[in-house]
Amino acid sequence: MSRVAIAGAGPAGLTCAIYLARAGWSVDVYSNSENAESSLVEASIVENYPGFPDGASGFELLNRMVEQAEKCGVCIHSEGVAKVLADERRVVDTAGNAHEYYEYVEAIGCKKRKFECKGIDLLPVHTCAICDGSLYGKNDNVVVIGGGDTAISSALYLSNLVNQVTMLVRKPKCKGTNQVALNALSTKQNAEIMYNSTLDHIDKDALGNPILHVAKANHYADFMLLGVSAIFACIGSEPNVIEHIGSGKIWKCGDCAEQYEQVAIAVGSGARVALDIIGSC
Ligand code: NDP
Repeated sequence: MSRVAIAGAGPAGLTCAIYLARAGWSVDVYSNSENAESSLVEASIVENYPGFPDGASGFELLNRMVEQAEKCGVCIHSEGVAKVLADERRVVDTAGNAHEYYEYVEAIGCKKRKFECKGIDLLPVHTCAICDGSLYGKNDNVVVIGGGDTAISSALYLSNLVNQVTMLVRKPKCKGTNQVALNALSTKQNAEIMYNSTLDHIDKDALGNPILHVAKANHYADFMLLGVSAIFACIGSEPNVIEHIGSGKIWKCGDCAEQYEQVAIAVGSGARVALDIIGSC
């Protein structure tokens, strides 16, 4: 039986595992919080994944995927992949054990960059508007930090849910190139884009309400935002990385390989890689 090693037990890795196991492969999934635990568990509710009309928590969705994979005979190890000896077709897990494989798939996701400033703990900070935007409504004002496509589409999405969206872009123009979304955002009465602006720090007024101090063009000016319920920090992400030694084939799927970080896309991406592997053997 052909053996495949998959690093990552998120929607992409597990979908790939399910397809390959059902096609008769022996599948080992390696997962740990260091490099491969799914970011899906962070989503309090996922409402856009088909088949769950009332939504499901990220944790529940992932548990169901794990259950399905295990039912198909997939073996999920609680060690991650520490390094890949690609020419020798072996992975070394985080406990130091080497495992042979015939094909190797990396589905290790991305890490959202974390926004830091003094007092940031005074407000909830989210990184996914689609996952967490529905926690806020017409009585809430939110701040989006970042000028990339994620920040633009997040600000647009949030403008349909909340009272006021303020987007803080640290440069004189947005980095994002989704002009359609940017144009749509500029027509929104309840959305404002502040260029050359960064969140400098947050403190509290006498009643304990947070005050956001915004620095303009890198020179601190006492510009304040009041009545803010939450921050959406959309400042990019970095793919997780595993050391590769040698140049043997490595398949990639999910957030570490796709443009959009969405469960439905990760699932499709995992299925596609599995079918490519099946087709190439
Ligand atoms: P990006 O890396 O493209 O953008 C990150 C943004 O955050 C930049 O504007 C950057 O500023 C800003 N930033 C970084 N660090 C800080 C900080 N500490 N304080 C303030 N601002 C900061 O990431 P995205 O997640 O937006 O996009 C990732 C990829 O996904 C891109 O290729 C994008 O095109 C794609 N995408 C496409 C979408 C679409 O609708 N087509 C939707 C979502 C994503 P600076 O410019 O100064 O570096």
